[in-house]
Amino acid sequence: ATRLANAATAVLRAYDPGHDLPVLRRRFGAALAELGSNENPLGPGPRALEAMRAALAEAFRYPDPRGAALKAALAARLGVDAGRITLGNGSHELLMLLAQCFADAAHSIVHAQYGFAVFPIAAAAAGAQAVVVPALPREHPAAPYGHDLEAIAAAVRRDTRIVYLANPNNPTGTWFGDAALAALLARVPQDVLVVVDEAYHEYVDAPDLGTALRFADAHPNLVVTRTFSKAYGLAGLRVGYMIGDPSVAAVLERLRESFNVNGLALAAAEAALGDAEHLQRVRAFNRGEREWLRAELAARGYTALPSQTNFLLVDLGRDAAPLERHLLERGVVVRPMGGYGLPQTLRISIGSRAENARLLEALP
Ligand code: PMP
Repeated sequence: ATRLANAATAVLRAYDPGHDLPVLRRRFGAALAELGSNENPLGPGPRALEAMRAALAEAFRYPDPRGAALKAALAARLGVDAGRITLGNGSHELLMLLAQCFADAAHSIVHAQYGFAVFPIAAAAAGAQAVVVPALPREHPAAPYGHDLEAIAAAVRRDTRIVYLANPNNPTGTWFGDAALAALLARVPQDVLVVVDEAYHEYVDAPDLGTALRFADAHPNLVVTRTFSKAYGLAGLRVGYMIGDPSVAAVLERLRESFNVNGLALAAAEAALGDAEHLQRVRAFNRGEREWLRAELAARGYTALPSQTNFLLVDLGRDAAPLERHLLERGVVVRPMGGYGLPQTLRISIGSRAENARLLEALP
């Protein structure tokens, strides 16, 4: 256990942003621009807020351990059976739990270079070997630094239990189309779980990218994870979900903590799901603000990669650490990417117009 904990800690430490948010909040107060964690600057919608207020009165009770109401709402929305859904304390918990349930020291877990940070952490915590597949090159026209699905499919070995993909991916912002996923699923053996992390799904409007869910019926080894942390604006409440084969969901249901999603989160997520108007507002705001920020950055000589998410990865072509410190000194938090092996880039979340403007003002 100590060895596994040390391995996971070592990986975690590599991704540490190196700044202390509580200290920065005290120093800069309301003037701090928090563009480091891909949060939603519009926050929760009015229906979610109202549901949270109502749920406060019930906070002395344990929440429904099955999360039945939220699962039913998700099942109806997604057109799947509720028995295929497991709720998590953020999708982070589900990504970790999948590795712990289905892999151990005898197994390998395949993920892409520059893939989401939780993938190597989950592999380390399960004691499994991480097989890291080189990313597409910076020069790739559609997906610089993105997932190379053909190489990922080729890297699957006899001992592989899980393939983790993020679509779109964090921190690159890149995505792969449905056709590429179909080709990968056709190649990967059915006893290997293909986990597609769709944390940014609600922001996507690329015509070639729908959802991995459309392949679920044909591929029982497919697992899709989603979250209420991003477009639904509920990152602080910690609620995510996964859709998989009922047999996979049953294993997670048995091994997860009984009350892993709290009552406020259950109520807020269910209400958020029913607030199409707020989601539409978030999507439109994000798209407009992201492309405005991209153009403003370009006008100042900073190149952002293509993105279908609520953040931009800016490629400086030189060590990004001095710029990150320069911005931090001026109350603008962005995420350095050295831990990911991208030390020449900074990840900048789309904030409010005031926060984004502060970033532009603070740039040298
Ligand atoms: N997947 C990706 C690709 C992410 O960027 C994030 C959040 N940074 C998560 C999963 C986890 O989100 P949460 O645990 O809040 O659902």
